[in-house]
Amino acid sequence: LGLMFWLNTELALISIVILPIFLFSSVSITKRIQKLARQKRKSEGAIASLAVETMSAIKVVKALSLEGMLENSFTTQNEKSLQEGLKSEQLSAGLQRTAQLLVSVATALVLWRGVQLVMQQIITVGDLLVFISYLKTAFKPTRQLAKQVSQIAKATASGERVIELLDTVPDIRDSRGAIEAPSFKGKVRFKNVSFGYQEGKGILSHLSFEAESGQKVALVGPSGGGKSTLVSLLLRLYDPLEGQILIDGHDLREYKLASLRRQITIVLQDSVLFGVSVRDNIAYGLLGATERQIIAAAKLANAHEFIMRLPEGYDTILGERGSTLSGGQKQRIAIARAAIRKAPIVILDEPTVGLDNESERSVTEALDRLTEESTTFLITHDLRTATTADQILYIEKGEIVERGTHQELMRLQAK
Ligand code: ADP
Repeated sequence: LGLMFWLNTELALISIVILPIFLFSSVSITKRIQKLARQKRKSEGAIASLAVETMSAIKVVKALSLEGMLENSFTTQNEKSLQEGLKSEQLSAGLQRTAQLLVSVATALVLWRGVQLVMQQIITVGDLLVFISYLKTAFKPTRQLAKQVSQIAKATASGERVIELLDTVPDIRDSRGAIEAPSFKGKVRFKNVSFGYQEGKGILSHLSFEAESGQKVALVGPSGGGKSTLVSLLLRLYDPLEGQILIDGHDLREYKLASLRRQITIVLQDSVLFGVSVRDNIAYGLLGATERQIIAAAKLANAHEFIMRLPEGYDTILGERGSTLSGGQKQRIAIARAAIRKAPIVILDEPTVGLDNESERSVTEALDRLTEESTTFLITHDLRTATTADQILYIEKGEIVERGTHQELMRLQAK
């Protein structure tokens, strides 16, 4: 550009009149491409979550014959995303065309005026040719920029999504001054605890109870009463809105999250196993577990024998979510994973529901061993499975409506 001005100021000024037009159109088109790229990211997210949801619930999908319906929504989402992609390609191609056109217009104008200047013998033909070749070189980056604009816009939109995620601050994190939790004895106390997931919609209201170290507490009551919510609070997946939860006399929030959760172990109704070897599935319970610990945990969980009968023993890779095992076998591996932690607090969320009698016996036996010394919270909707509990809390609509031992509650029921 400098050389062009040095060669001939008038021609140089003529060539750069197109620049503002180019800048204006590229800024406006970039904005539109960016908007489309953002939408496209969102629809791609929707496609991915629809696919994951459908695949992970494939049995239900087939049983309810939802394939057609879900395929349609998948197609619709895909088409939407395709349209957005096409639109942004169109815009970007448009910008490239504009850039080409503007450069050609500038060249034509320069030629037109240049020829006049040559005729008036102000410049020579050689000067004009040299000028035109500089003009081409000077505008090359402009054309390239037009090509890159859509790439840059798309990258910006993706970057925004990543930054959004990275900037998310979890609600529950270590409080300032949180300390590493000491080894718990396992005394748990809920003190006037209230909680709700959304504002104005209370789930638990003013719950208070105490569990001594090593006690078994059964949480019973109709579904939706708030039993799972209660144990989520103990794991500090949420913080109570009011009141306090204490372990060995100290508020959970005084401890570092990881050091608290390391000392609580959990077995769910439908335990999630990972698509790795049986050995790793058990070892996930304790970072750096040794072979001996893994086998001891499997034996405790009544799982060692059937694991040895698997084609590759402890090295057998499980299908997705443990689909290659029976329900009872899955549960026993989950119990081994829970047992390897040797945690002073154990949470069992309906761990035997859906098992046949034979499996249930084996799983119950494993659970008894797992919970022998720990403070245990057993969620169950069946009062019969709570016969051995030291105390039973009957929870309905977020309140403890009855409490006592099995006998005491039976007596109440009889009245
Ligand atoms: P229970 O374990 O006794 O069946 P839950 O603790 O699972 O009861 O549920 C208690 C109430 O909290 C229910 O009304 C349920 O809809 C609601 N709930 C549970 N989890 C969530 C959540 N993550 N977000 C919003 N509401 C929830």
